[in-house]
Amino acid sequence: MELWYTEKHTANVGMICKIRGTLLRKRSPYQEIAVIDTEQFGRMLLLDGIVQTTVADEFVYHEMIAHVPLNAHPNPRKVAVIGGGDGGTIREIVKHDTVEKAVLVEIDAEVIEASRRYLPEISCGLDDERVEILIADGIEHIRQSKNVYDVIIIDSTDPVGPAVGLFAPEFYGSVYEALKDDGIMVAQTESPYYEPEQVARVFTGVNSHFPITKLYLAHIPSYSSGLWSFTIGSKKHDPAVINRGKPQVCGTKYYNADVHTAAFALPEFVRQLVKP
Ligand code: SAM
Repeated sequence: MELWYTEKHTANVGMICKIRGTLLRKRSPYQEIAVIDTEQFGRMLLLDGIVQTTVADEFVYHEMIAHVPLNAHPNPRKVAVIGGGDGGTIREIVKHDTVEKAVLVEIDAEVIEASRRYLPEISCGLDDERVEILIADGIEHIRQSKNVYDVIIIDSTDPVGPAVGLFAPEFYGSVYEALKDDGIMVAQTESPYYEPEQVARVFTGVNSHFPITKLYLAHIPSYSSGLWSFTIGSKKHDPAVINRGKPQVCGTKYYNADVHTAAFALPEFVRQLVKP
């Protein structure tokens, strides 16, 4: 008998994957957590029935959300990740020798436990000695932090449940305050095909606080539509320009210097979404 996982991306379209088995299925106080093993993508972490990461293509998302801001900043020493309980973003951050401290603020301890147990290749960076894990609401943590971080990465679930506030304009104001004078923030901001209003709304929200706001794209096969956006806000440095004064990270599978620059080249329909 064949077993298939189905995920609806809109009311009318979705993705199906043939599965080998279900490794975990449980409810935490915040969401339903599942880890399934699929033929195409290997192990997948699902939260409330939505793919968060897969062993086969996680490198695209994690490299692009981490190395773009960290390589645009001349000297990122203190970095925060809001959400990101699978640990993939942290794994990429700790590849940067300049980083002295990486703080992971994840609301749901059970996501971290699931990832440590079933996705060791993704969660391995969580054991780096520079990493501090806080089980807390990222909105509160950022509200209470002033002039602390060089880079803040918002690696959240879609805007439902506890993540709703992570997409609100007021939150980007708190992020601005939590960053140092030349700080940079980035947020994962969904698919421009299926969530154009969301992409435009977040861009406007970030742009209302940050003097430099840009959108960049990456291709992530397991995410809805495959075309994924990231919104980046910077106080001083142009995020599209790699700071070549600092050592570059090697051994990436998607990210490189050309991809960094090219990711900011937007198709016309996406450019229209973020037109001032
Ligand atoms: N790469 C993923 C994606 O875009 O689909 C996101 C991965 S990560 C698993 C997202 C995490 O954000 C979840 O573990 C969730 O618990 C966490 N999260 C949601 N709202 C949060 C909040 N307010 N504070 C901290 N973490 C939050």
